[in-house]
Amino acid sequence: MKEMEIAVLPGDGIGPEVMDEAIKVLDVIQKKYKVKFNYKKALVGGSAYDEFGTHLPESTLQICKESDAILFGSVGGPVKEQNTKKWNGVEVNSLLGLRKEFNLYANLRPSKLYPALADSCSLRKDISEKGFDLLVVRELTGGIYFGQPKGRKYEGDDEIAFDTMVYSRKEIKRIAKVAFEVARKRRKKVTSIDKANVLTTMILWRQVVEEVAKEYPDVEYEPMYVDNAAMQLTKNPQQFDVILAGNMFGDIISDESAAIAGSLGMLPSASLAKGKFGMYEPSGGSAYDIAGLGIANPIAQILSGAMMLKYSFDMEEAGKEIEIAVEKLLNDGFRTKDIWQKGNIEINTKEVGDKIVEYLR
Ligand code: NAD
Repeated sequence: MKEMEIAVLPGDGIGPEVMDEAIKVLDVIQKKYKVKFNYKKALVGGSAYDEFGTHLPESTLQICKESDAILFGSVGGPVKEQNTKKWNGVEVNSLLGLRKEFNLYANLRPSKLYPALADSCSLRKDISEKGFDLLVVRELTGGIYFGQPKGRKYEGDDEIAFDTMVYSRKEIKRIAKVAFEVARKRRKKVTSIDKANVLTTMILWRQVVEEVAKEYPDVEYEPMYVDNAAMQLTKNPQQFDVILAGNMFGDIISDESAAIAGSLGMLPSASLAKGKFGMYEPSGGSAYDIAGLGIANPIAQILSGAMMLKYSFDMEEAGKEIEIAVEKLLNDGFRTKDIWQKGNIEINTKEVGDKIVEYLR
């Protein structure tokens, strides 16, 4: 029987509550598909700080290194306590720490508006009722966020601050290939976001993406300036399948895509390294305002598990089955509080897990 090692890092706030539901769902999958998931739980974030005095303890890193994938919850404390010793720097230390350690260079953020949730969407009704299903592939370890030199110089009115946007041919090629490969498993279209009309880095970006596109004649390729992309997302999100972007543009575009899809509790994400290793986590945070109440929406965490099956374990069909079960749950009118609307049936975190398990069986 095929065995997979999974590092399970529930983290803080609603993390442990929603993680329990994701594991419940994965347990059904392992039985159904006759594979074995060996879960290894470890502390990260504030909960790790309480025990070890650090947000990313060596023992947690070790467990991750010995695993085939990391299933991550979320980290961070209540908004009012951000500057306390326990919470200060928690996201940078945990998330960026893991990204750096495992060279997680490709961030995949699907954004799907289920027609059943059209009313929770901020877009105009005639646009939202068509639903949309897109995936942002964002380069995560390069670009202007990490380029050198960066700094501040001079004083008074002469003071300047600067960052460097830099991409190598190698980095662009690597992320573009991820986008085209993923598109092959979807609707076979890549829209590459750049600013090639103004930025030299983006001229190289466009050139290299065009070269990679030629290796994928079965995938439609289209370049788009980032300002236009931001507008097109609100006017006609249905036109997008895979959106490819560098670190900064991808940061903004993926948040915009998430925002137009409605609740944060619905959206998973994946950060992939070379090969099959990846870290899978909900797009939202630790939602301390509702932690412990049993009302958090576990769908993002459950779908993060589905992404793990697809991208790290080659279990495409199992991942798809989970997605279909989620869609069925919504079509049947079951909702957690965050996406509940008049006429729906309100259920809690655990009941969502139970229902999805029921559909899968
Ligand atoms: P948040 O995403 O935790 O919450 C924003 C709003 O969305 C809240 O009203 C929350 O209740 C709601 N929400 C989020 N996920 C939900 C879910 N699954 N079900 C129902 N409602 C949900 O963002 P925030 O409040 O700005 O941040 C809280 C903490 O999380 C902060 O410490 C922040 O730094 C941290 N954070 C962590 C991550 C991460 O771990 N990747 C990401 C974002 C924020």
